[in-house]
Amino acid sequence: MSRFDVERERRTLGGIFRRLIGSTGPISLAHYMAENNARYYADRDPFGAAGDFITAPEISQMFGELIGLWLADLWIRAGRTEPVHYVELGPGRGTLARDAQRAMKRYGLEPRMHLVETSMRLRDMQLAAVPGAQFHDDLSRVPMEGPVLLVANEFLDALPVRQLVQTVDGWREIMVAVDGEGKFVETPGRQPMDSALPEARRNAAPGTVVETSPASAAILFEVAGRLASQGGAALFIDYGYTDGRSGSTLQAVRGHEKRSLFDTPGEVDLSAHVDFAQMEQVARSRGARVLGTVTQGEWLTRLGIADRAEALADFAPQHRDALMRARDRLVEPDQMGDLFKVLGLVAPDWPDGAGFAV
Ligand code: SAH
Repeated sequence: MSRFDVERERRTLGGIFRRLIGSTGPISLAHYMAENNARYYADRDPFGAAGDFITAPEISQMFGELIGLWLADLWIRAGRTEPVHYVELGPGRGTLARDAQRAMKRYGLEPRMHLVETSMRLRDMQLAAVPGAQFHDDLSRVPMEGPVLLVANEFLDALPVRQLVQTVDGWREIMVAVDGEGKFVETPGRQPMDSALPEARRNAAPGTVVETSPASAAILFEVAGRLASQGGAALFIDYGYTDGRSGSTLQAVRGHEKRSLFDTPGEVDLSAHVDFAQMEQVARSRGARVLGTVTQGEWLTRLGIADRAEALADFAPQHRDALMRARDRLVEPDQMGDLFKVLGLVAPDWPDGAGFAV
């Protein structure tokens, strides 16, 4: 390596991780994931065909509009309380917030817009999409007065997961170390972690991995607590599962392709599937009413996405094919329809939201 290369390597996230691990030993996978994603989102726009991945609001305006309608319908039936706050976690380019805002306005709902975002690059794009929005580093600064209408699409999947593995010596946390060639590798930690697992799961075969997301549980804890005390509703939309299961779901994506977890720290999107059963349990424990977790396909269909697509196509016949393709992409089971789930929560004294009751 030339002196120039050495200097450059020092400043990469990989270089920082290597020095950290060299001086204090392996770091937890959760730490690795949190730092990776903070660096990844800080200075790029990863969305769209030219980026690394595409999300539902970027596929079609119908997604954000139907979410806006869902919120407006609930707010009207709950008694039109003012002031009311729209809160979005990790709003990306701000597309969902903009589309939802337009739809809510048609029904007389003009909430204050609060965007929780850590990336300065994305904040600029969000402000252009939603002029006048207020930004927050985390939920704690969102006002405590008045109901919150909260939306989080593909947010929880970006929060760090902790993985525990059953070894012949008992449960250990999965850590990231550096091997003889300077490559990042997984290794079980030294500290016994048996007490971190519920009794019922402790007797698993060696090699079993249990993944949890304490950061996601903390978000649900706070959101559900606010619904119970302030009123309002929340939608968490993400890929994930509703049956408890074991195994790692952590993946790295760049340029619409799966990559290795450890090749280029800070340059890939790391995400994990959301454990919706656990999210429901946390929400219930804080006194929010859980409407349920349904597939994105079922939910959008019950909200009338087919009619909405037809209406837009009648209005702009030249876009008919593109609109129908976008609708299919959002709802078809072999596309996003089944893998993505929608978790609905409301305040205890708020009515049921559309699309959940069977
Ligand atoms: N909801 C958007 C973007 C999803 S990508 C969409 O559907 O298109 C994840 C988003 O969460 C990005 O905006 C990212 O910058 C943000 N984010 C990731 N970790 C975060 C954290 N810890 N706090 C706040 N925002 C975070």
